[in-house]
Order: sequence, then structure tokens, then C-alpha cells
Amino acid sequence: MNPNETQDHSVPKSHPRYESLKFRHRIIEGMKKLVVAEAGLIAHGRGECFDYILGEKTTQAAKNAIKAAVAALLLAQKPVISVNGNVAALIPEQLVILSKTVNAPLEINLFYQKEGRIKAIKEVLQKAGATEIYGVDPKKMIELNGLESNRRKVELIAQADLVMVPLEDGDRTEALKKLNKIIIAVDLNPLSRTSLWADITIVDNIVRTIPEMITTAKELKKINDSQLETIVKNFDNKKNLQTTLDLVIEYIENQKEHMFDSIEF
Ligand code: ATP
Ligand code: MG
Repeated sequence: MNPNETQDHSVPKSHPRYESLKFRHRIIEGMKKLVVAEAGLIAHGRGECFDYILGEKTTQAAKNAIKAAVAALLLAQKPVISVNGNVAALIPEQLVILSKTVNAPLEINLFYQKEGRIKAIKEVLQKAGATEIYGVDPKKMIELNGLESNRRKVELIAQADLVMVPLEDGDRTEALKKLNKIIIAVDLNPLSRTSLWADITIVDNIVRTIPEMITTAKELKKINDSQLETIVKNFDNKKNLQTTLDLVIEYIENQKEHMFDSIEF
């Protein structure tokens, strides 16, 4: 018997790392079902590490980026949300709700292609309530300039004015930027090339970002376009990334002071 099949992934809710372990196990289950690539496990681990030094919470800087991102999504003519295996495994239901709330279709776009993966991700999204899923039919795909990886093959993304890229690789973010698209990135690493290239970088865990974006979208749908434009115009991504680093430094300094407080014998 495959030893993986005997693993018990149930974690008691009282466990101090319950939330983190819950999502780690979703990634592992996703890999067994072909949804997540092996490299997706490593990317998740890198994300967890950055989440740790952010205090595993949505910072004020991330909230500001979320507000600007939702405003930009509501203003866009042809927005698309790019979906990879990790995102589909971690938070499919909320992803579908966000897509419908801001009217931005979902397009599957993978770095690591494998027989059956697109189908597996499509099924996860359908089960989560998605009715329209792009990036599935090779006959409808065209190739983007400036990219060599599998991610060059796109469908709606080719014509999109805005692309939201959760957990994206830097090469593609750069290529999409050079095609004059507005890029919203969700990336826990404020120093990644994706974070630096994007127009609006949300440095936060996707599992917290998507629900927060849904709540924000419901609020921002009540205001008019010129008010939305003001939100986008007043957002400075470079400054916001530097503020994020300040928050990390502040958090780590605080941890340094208090790191042993909870350790009692
Ligand atoms: P880049 O190519 O942009 O320079 P990278 O090569 O360091 O980045 P990739 O593996 O290409 O990293 O992309 C994965 C990114 O996704 C990492 O920066 C990682 O921190 C981030 N990430 C992983 N899991 C999550 C998550 N749950 N929420 C948000 N970001 C995440
Ligand atoms: Mg990369």
C-alpha cells in the first residue's frame, strides 16, 4: 500500500498551527489528485515561510493593496483571474465567488503541465460552482510573446486589460507587464520579481486575501467610477512594498523582545 494513503491529516482545532496545517494538507491532497504540481509544494513552503515573518495576518499595507486591486478590477474592461493548481487546491469556492462578484472570468494557466492536470483543476473549480472556465481547450489558445514556458499559451488573457495573478512566476509577470496589462499579484514574498513587477502587489496569503477581496468588492460596488479611480490613483505600489518591509522589521523586532514569553516550564 502507498504509505501516503495511510496518513491521517486530521489536525485538532486546538493545535496552535491549525490554520497553517489545514492548508498544507489541502496542498498535499491537491497533489495526490494531480491538481497541484510537485513544485507547488515547494512554492507553498516558501510562502509559509514569508507568512511567518508577517505574523500570519493581513497587514494594513495588504489591506490597502486589496482595496486598490478591487477598485482596479471593477474599473477594468476585460479583467481575467489566472488560476494555477495551488490556488485551486487552497481556496476554490471563494475564488469562484470573487470571480462572479467582480465579473472577472477564471482562466487556468499552469507553469507545470502534466497529463490530466488541467482537467483535474477544471473539475475542482466546477465543483466549487464555476460555470465558465477558460484555458482548457488547446484549440482556443494562442501564444504570448516573450515567454518560453508553458504559461505562454493563453486564451482570454491575450486580450485582457487587467490580469490578476495569484502566486505567479516572475518571468511571466514581467512578460505580461511588457504587453501593457495591468497586473495584480498576490504574493507573500515582497521581494519576488512578481511583487516588484506588478502594478498592485498584495503581500498576503491567498487564503486570507480572496475572502477579504470579496468583502471589499461588495463595499466598493456601491461607489461610482470616479471614486474608484481615485482609490487606484492614490495607491503607490513601490511605497506600499516598502511599508510592508517596515512592518516585517517591526514584527521581527517585537518577536525578538518577546519570543520566550510563552515558553514556561
Ligand atoms: P519570482 O519568480 O516572482 O521571483 P520565486 O521564483 O521566488 O518568485 P515562484 O515559485 O516563482 O517564486 O512563485 C511562488 C510565489 O508564491 C512565492 O513567492 C511564494 O512566496 C508565493 N506563495 C506561495 N504560497 C502562497 C500563498 N498561499 N499565498 C500567497 N503567496 C504564496
Ligand atoms: Mg519564479
